[in-house]
This record gives sequence, structure tokens and C-alpha cells, in this order.
Amino acid sequence: MSAKVESQVSLKPYNSFGIDVKARHFAQATSDDEVRQLLAYAATEDLPALVIGGGSNLLLTQDITALVIRMNSSGIHLLSDDGQRVVVEAEAGEAWHPFVQWTLEQGLVGLENLSLIPGTVGAAPMQNIGAYGVEIKDVFAGLTALDRQTGDLRDFTLEDCDFAYRDSYFKRKPGRWVILRVRFALSRTAALHLDYGPVRQRLAGIEQPTAKDVSEAICSIRREKLPDPAELGNAGSFFKNPVVSGVLAERIREQHPGLVAYPQADGEMKLAAGWLIEQAGWKGYRDGDAGVHALQALVLVNYGQASGEQLHELAQKIQDDVLDRFGVELEMEPNLY
Ligand code: FAD
Ligand code: NAP
Repeated sequence: MSAKVESQVSLKPYNSFGIDVKARHFAQATSDDEVRQLLAYAATEDLPALVIGGGSNLLLTQDITALVIRMNSSGIHLLSDDGQRVVVEAEAGEAWHPFVQWTLEQGLVGLENLSLIPGTVGAAPMQNIGAYGVEIKDVFAGLTALDRQTGDLRDFTLEDCDFAYRDSYFKRKPGRWVILRVRFALSRTAALHLDYGPVRQRLAGIEQPTAKDVSEAICSIRREKLPDPAELGNAGSFFKNPVVSGVLAERIREQHPGLVAYPQADGEMKLAAGWLIEQAGWKGYRDGDAGVHALQALVLVNYGQASGEQLHELAQKIQDDVLDRFGVELEMEPNLY
């Protein structure tokens, strides 16, 4: 076997919360063959296997009694280019933001609003990553995954992935598929998405912004608001924005006229979870090393030595409080292990 399996490995460097739990066994896979070899090894040793990417959407609450396989494959390929529509494929282990930057260097439009999201290409379809009005489903052109039940490879279309808000077929079937590579349909001419939050304002003064300009504006906005996991452990937004009935949203607005809510196509309303948490008084809260970020109430942070359990308990207190005050259930976004 070409991949090296190590025992009792600290996962601290492999999760953006910086939580110090151990993996009973740990290996990095750089190719499809190594993924297959490692899954076969896990089966022989009667071990479960957990596939991870950059660890930026994980909450690890205990030692992992499994073989943790970190996707470390690399490669970006241009599959087709008709002068306008360009299909690009990237291996699962490619880091997301450098991949986005590579597409921008090629003059391609489509991924600029998803700049500076941590993690890997292979994990991006898991929760249909999204930011500033764009989700990967908007530029998705297919992916190849390995079925852990049968060992077969399968190509997935957009419809097969059943993408939804921070959700996908894969998120609903945890552990079944290993995503090996993902394809994106980008463009040389597509319109830019500027009408979200402060993006247009940040571009003021640039007459005809390019995709690169949009990326730079979004990176600068994100750097101002979001803690860098290299400095302060976090997993980005800890809760999804809840989508509630129009009736409930109105009821909350009667009590809280400042409610931040966005109408959905079906008459429901998407509420800003960060606003609800802030109104409930949690912004900047700290208990030991587990806390709520001082600038963005949607982000839970590890000031150093917080355990996953402590962060999970804090999250549950916030969920209970928001439910009591507003009658709204907050759903965790990171994957809990
Ligand atoms: P991991 O955390 O390693 O894994 C996430 C899940 O996917 C796990 O269940 C894992 O088992 C599974 N998985 C990983 N790779 C594979 C694979 N190849 N095949 C099968 N399963 C796999 N998310 C957004 O949507 N929008 C944002 O704007 C955003 N901003 C963020 C900002 C910060 C500062 C941070 C820390 C996080 C942010 N996130 C955001 C969340 C996170 O970056 C994304 O969800 C990212 O796609 C996770 O990638 P990862 O490689 O780190 O996945
Ligand atoms: P923000 O701009 O302060 O906005 C607060 C919330 O309101 C966001 O969560 C966003 O929902 C929603 N919103 C804002 N403008 C909207 C519009 N025009 N139409 C519909 N909904 C709107 O948010 P932020 O925290 O700084 O994040 C900016 C973007 O980056 C958001 O898209 C956010 O999802 C993304 N982000 C995601 C993560 C993560 O870990 N998942 C972490 C950081 C940032 P949406 O979240 O649905 O867009």
C-alpha cells in the first residue's frame, strides 16, 4: 500500500476549530487508488473510515475510533472550452480558495463570490457551499464519486446531487460516497453577482469591475468580519439561517421591528441566525475558551483549549435560548463527530 497509516494522530492541525482529539488511525490519500487501498485496509482491520478534507466544517467532540482519511489529491484539468463556456475539473484534495484564484487567473467567471472559503474542492458539494448570493450549484457541471458500498465509481449530474441551501444528497447520506473530483461550468462573459450585502458598495469607484475585482472586494469584506482560523479556531457560520413561515416571521417582527428577514420564493422567510443570536445577547459571550465571536454572532470560536464538547454545549444553550425567545429552531451547520 502506497499510503502511510499512522496511529494515535492528533487531529488538531486537521480541523479549523483546533480541537485536540486523536484519530485511532490516520492517512492521507493522494489518488483514487490510495482511497481504495485505505478503504480496503479499514475493512480488513474492521475499522470504520471517516473521509475529511480541510476540516473547516467539523466539530470533533471525542477521539475518533476510525481510520481518518484526509483527501490530499491534486490536479486541475480543463475539460472543454468553446470560447465562452469552459468546463474545469479539480481533484477533491485541491484547496478551495487557491482553486478559485486559479480560475480567475484564467479569466473565468463564476466562482468569484465564493472566494476565501476554507476547505477543499471535494467537500464543496457536501453542503453546496455558498456566499454572497452564489452557491456551487449555480456553476456545477458534475462530479465523480466512489460508492463505498459497492466500490463502483459514479458520475453525478446537477439533478442527482439534489442541492439545497447548505445541503445536498451527499450530506443526507453521510459516509456513503467519497467525492473524488468535481466539475464546474465557468464562463468568459457571464454577468457578475454584485447585489448582495456590501459588495457593490465595496466596488464603488471601479467603473467596470472584473471577476477578480469582485473576488478582491469579497476577500477584504470577509477579512474584516470573520476570524482567521489560523489565529482563532472556528468553523465559520455555526448555524444555518432558519427558514420559517411568513406568519412566524411577522409574529417575531411585531415584538422585534428590526428583524432581519429575506423573503423566499414560496412565501417563507429566511431569518439571519446571527441577528437572532445577537438579539439574545450572546455576541462576544465567553465561557472558558469556548465563545461567540465579538464581531459575528454566528461564529463560535475556540480561544485555545476549548473541547468539542464545550463548544457543543455552548451551541445547545444558544439553540435553547433562541427557541425560547423567538420560537425558532437553529440547526447546526458543521458536521458533528
Ligand atoms: P471538512 O470539514 O473536512 O468536511 C466536511 C464534511 O464533508 C465532513 O462530513 C466530511 O466527512 C465530508 N467530506 C469532506 N471531503 C469529502 C470528500 N472528498 N468526499 C466525501 N465526503 C467528504 N461554508 C460556506 O458554505 N460558505 C462560506 O462562506 C463559508 N465560510 C467559511 C469561513 C470560515 C472562516 C470557515 C472556517 C468555514 C467556512 N465555511 C463556509 C465552511 C467550510 O469552509 C465549507 O463547508 C467547506 O466546504 C468545508 O470543506 P473541508 O474540506 O474543510 O471539509
Ligand atoms: P451578512 O452579509 O452579514 O448577512 C447576514 C445574513 O443575511 C447572511 O447569512 C445572508 O444569508 C443573509 N443575507 C444578506 N444579504 C442577503 C440578500 N441580499 N439576500 C438574501 N439573504 C441575504 O453575512 P455574513 O455573515 O457577513 O456572510 C456573508 C456571506 O458569506 C453570506 O452569504 C454567508 O452565508 C457567507 N458565509 C458563510 C459562512 C459559513 O460557514 N457557511 C461563513 C462566513 C460567511 P446567506 O447566508 O443565506 O447568504
